[in-house]
Amino acid sequence: MSHHGVSLEAIHQARRRIAGQVVRTPLVRSAALSARFEAEILLKLETCQPTGAFKLRGATNMIAALIERHGSEALAAGVVTASTGNHGRAVAYAAAQQGVPAVICLSRLVPPDKVAAIEALGAEARRVGASQDEAFEEVERLVSERGMTLIPPFDDPLVAAGQGTIGLELMEDCPDLDRVIVGLSGGGLLGGIGVAVKAIRPECRVTGVSLSRGAAMWESLQAGYPVAVEEVESLGDSLGGGIGRDNRCTLALVREVMDDHVQVSERAIARAMVAILEHEKRLVEGAAAVGLAAIEEHGLAVRGRKVALILSGNAVSLEILDRARVLAGR
Ligand SMILES: *Cc1c(COP(=O)(O)O)cnc(C)c1O
Repeated sequence: MSHHGVSLEAIHQARRRIAGQVVRTPLVRSAALSARFEAEILLKLETCQPTGAFKLRGATNMIAALIERHGSEALAAGVVTASTGNHGRAVAYAAAQQGVPAVICLSRLVPPDKVAAIEALGAEARRVGASQDEAFEEVERLVSERGMTLIPPFDDPLVAAGQGTIGLELMEDCPDLDRVIVGLSGGGLLGGIGVAVKAIRPECRVTGVSLSRGAAMWESLQAGYPVAVEEVESLGDSLGGGIGRDNRCTLALVREVMDDHVQVSERAIARAMVAILEHEKRLVEGAAAVGLAAIEEHGLAVRGRKVALILSGNAVSLEILDRARVLAGR
């Protein structure tokens, strides 16, 4: 069965394509969290990806699938996107690995260390305009005038299928998983995992976690159509941003595969980041700590259950870590 272009078969294909280019990450049991919640709490370590986040799966799958379908000439002009964060690094890395030129468009306000990080991965970091919107106008120009190919951060069946390979790995490593708790922004991650998990084990709950402010997917699900929200600063900045006015895949996909949906406060995110660092000795960004934040803040029923949390990325600076410590009261 296909869900808006994403099927179990498409996810299996993605897995074959990305094998060898993307890390098959471990699922480790947390002794401390399992004891605390009287449950089996399992951590999926996407922080082990070479770019520090799962977005490499989707970007690698889309580039590889386009080459497979249309030949490498089709991507000779290169791939392009506008993202300062995990997606930008993923596209830069995936393109370099597959021998495809890449341009990452960034606003002039993006700090030099982020620009350098993109360039170090072998992509061109093009600085244009004073906002993310202007950077995106440059992306559109490169697509229409130079024939470059846009690799979107979430709203594409190939991208979501790539992220869905996490779901296959979860089902292999824990076939009787009861619940997976997933950070939710554009919905490629939750949508992909949800298709895989529901196809293999329908009784496994899929829980989405959004920010409590500036959560475009939350608002859009309530409204039934894509809603634009004002962006607010958050410890979980990788979960910020809109879902696209013309969202064609992930809004419907998320609605179909998600069982429940909660929002978490900044304080809960801060406490979860600090707890994961302190007890697990793992450094994660706010977006990767929302699963634990959700269990704590909402008292999700996990007792006696096998529950996977997706530690989705590790893009965190010392400044952000300091903010988290202060907010957590530690
Ligand atoms: C992008 C991202 C997410 C959310 O993924 P979506 O597909 O946009 O829902 C979660 N965590 C991290 C670290 C991310 O970079």
